[in-house]
Amino acid sequence: MYLGRMTPPAPSLRDTNLDKLAALRFDVLVLGGGINGAVSAAALAARGAKVALIDRGDFASVTSQQSSNLAWGGIKYLETYEVGLVLKLCRARNRLLRAYPSTVKEIRFFTSVARGFRHNRLKLWLGALLYWAIGAFYTRRPRLLSARDIAFEEPIVETSGLAGGFEYSDAYLYDNDARFVWGFVRSALDHGCVAANYVEALGSGRTKEGWVTRAREVTTGRELTITSSLLINACGPYADEVNARDGISTAHRHVFSKGIHIIVDRLTPRRRVLTFFADDGRLFFVIPMAGKTCIGTTDTRVERPEVEVTPEDREFVLENINKRLRLPRPLTGSDIIAERCGVRPLVVSGSANGGRDWMQLSRKHAVDTDAPRGRITVFGGKLSDCLNVGEEICAEVRRLGVELPQPKRAWYGEPPKPVREEYFHQARLMDLDALTTPHASEKLSSRLWRRYGAEALGLLEAVRRDPRQAEVIIETSEYIRCELDEAARREMVVKLEDFLRRRSKIALVVRKEEIHAAPGLREACGILFGEEQIEAKIAEYFGSAAAPAWRQAASGAV
Ligand SMILES: Cc1cc2nc3c(=O)[nH]c(=O)nc-3n(C[C@H](O)[C@H](O)[C@H](O)COP(=O)(O)OP(=O)(O)OC[C@H]3O[C@@H](n4cnc5c(N)ncnc54)[C@H](O)[C@@H]3O)c2cc1C
Repeated sequence: MYLGRMTPPAPSLRDTNLDKLAALRFDVLVLGGGINGAVSAAALAARGAKVALIDRGDFASVTSQQSSNLAWGGIKYLETYEVGLVLKLCRARNRLLRAYPSTVKEIRFFTSVARGFRHNRLKLWLGALLYWAIGAFYTRRPRLLSARDIAFEEPIVETSGLAGGFEYSDAYLYDNDARFVWGFVRSALDHGCVAANYVEALGSGRTKEGWVTRAREVTTGRELTITSSLLINACGPYADEVNARDGISTAHRHVFSKGIHIIVDRLTPRRRVLTFFADDGRLFFVIPMAGKTCIGTTDTRVERPEVEVTPEDREFVLENINKRLRLPRPLTGSDIIAERCGVRPLVVSGSANGGRDWMQLSRKHAVDTDAPRGRITVFGGKLSDCLNVGEEICAEVRRLGVELPQPKRAWYGEPPKPVREEYFHQARLMDLDALTTPHASEKLSSRLWRRYGAEALGLLEAVRRDPRQAEVIIETSEYIRCELDEAARREMVVKLEDFLRRRSKIALVVRKEEIHAAPGLREACGILFGEEQIEAKIAEYFGSAAAPAWRQAASGAV
């Protein structure tokens, strides 16, 4: 019998980071792990700062998981003659397209214009040409469309009452917004950032040495104190509240606009965004999402960031889409697979309230610095503009006296070409794509590369060692066994929702009841959380009802 000492199980990355948060002193503490906090942490860590990042929920669990998944150059701001903003956004979009060719992809926007619309289609098409030019002709050329072209190329579009349309290019996030944000968090971790989700900042005070932040680990209630020279408030729609609590006043503040999307089975086989002008005159999109279609969005002014989809919101989206598409039968609530809902934190100056031109209020960002106190707040912003935010934060942090040892170091982008070539070479040699499941929306090799970059080489090794690692666990999803191992080891999954909704997009494209009924769900939970946690994690996610309220109501189920 072996009587030696047993080695205790290795702590998780998150457990280790929780200890480090309390034990170390940081150059910068970033509050909030949405896109703005994630790029701030990734840029600063890559350039050599000692950075900590906390979020009171999961990373990207607020606004940054509710977007339209578009990285766009802001064509609509041409209507308000904000050419400078469009130029900046187009450049940011092009940089994303160059840096993330497998994640941020060009896509065509197939736009229909109704007769009598406030601008005629020729004027809009000229606008699209100007947009293309402002975008340095980086994308494919716009096309003018007649109503007949539209009927021929996209028969699903209702053409009665149409003047015609035009087609232009922008970009979209192939996976989804939350996964995109996670990529920056992971990259920050790779450069030594001490990050942890489910850690809430309770209040920060300035001392002679810097900032002292009282925080609470949300799942256990454990309190900790984090010290840093500078503090970045990237709390999105909660940024004003966090500043007010810490006694900080700023030149900017947020107002909120609520937007919702619904996801339904795929409406058209062509991978393009169908674009309409909704009844309220706003752009309205039908966007491909894996094998499904995402429809939205709305724009309603609200006072608070906590929002949910109301029956009126749902009705607005369903009514607008049913009017504009020629469907075999109108879409109803029972067709909805999942819903998304959030507020856009829109930046305004001082006591301005966004004025009467609410929908024209542009989506700029502002980096607001309190230099004497070493505090920076990020207001507004877009996923599309995130690389600019990262650069601006680095410049501000240096201005506030924190040395960045590698101030010019590249902090974003996919791994270099030789790594990519090696990965695809190995994937071909082992015939990885033959293991792609029949219902998958793309080849396995492309998907693993996009999601894991250089780490995907390790996944190939796992599949070579044990071919069962390439089996899909949660039936009807595309995720294979070794990806769950990867998520458990490297992706800080605390709750089942973190994996289903943000590290993957399973919860967006598979109905909740189907996930609940999937025989593989328990194995997936076992890999993510350990055998003893399976039931608790499933109960936490599904609660008592597997079917969401809108579908229960729509189907008459109790
Ligand atoms: C309907 C809709 C559609 C959109 N479409 C697009 C689009 O297509 N393209 C695009 O580029 N942009 C789009 N946007 C805008 C974009 O999503 C947001 O501007 C962006 O996600 C905001 O990111 P953020 O990091 O500022 O905020 P958030 O993502 O909200 O992150 C803030 C984080 O701070 C955390 N936090 C709050 N308080 C605390 C605390 N006390 N301690 C610790 N953490 C805290 C929160 O948990 C949260 O995770 C859209 C937005 C909406 C709502």
